[in-house]
Amino acid sequence: MAQLRGTAHERPAEDPLLLRMLATHMHCGEAMELVAEKTSPVGLPDGKNEDRILTYRCACGFSFDQRQD
Ligand SMILES: [Zn+2]
Repeated sequence: MAQLRGTAHERPAEDPLLLRMLATHMHCGEAMELVAEKTSPVGLPDGKNEDRILTYRCACGFSFDQRQD
């Protein structure tokens, strides 16, 4: 899968199921729990300023990081 990098506010294409999960924070039919919140370092390769990264975890153990612009 091609990765788009270097352009502000452009992201790689993501599959619809992942996008829906990111929007609803649901994985196994239950809302995932917000388990961590951190700020990424300044000076990212794409030239953006710092982003907030939220980590969600499902009851099944699945977790993912969601970047907040
Ligand atoms: Zn799950």
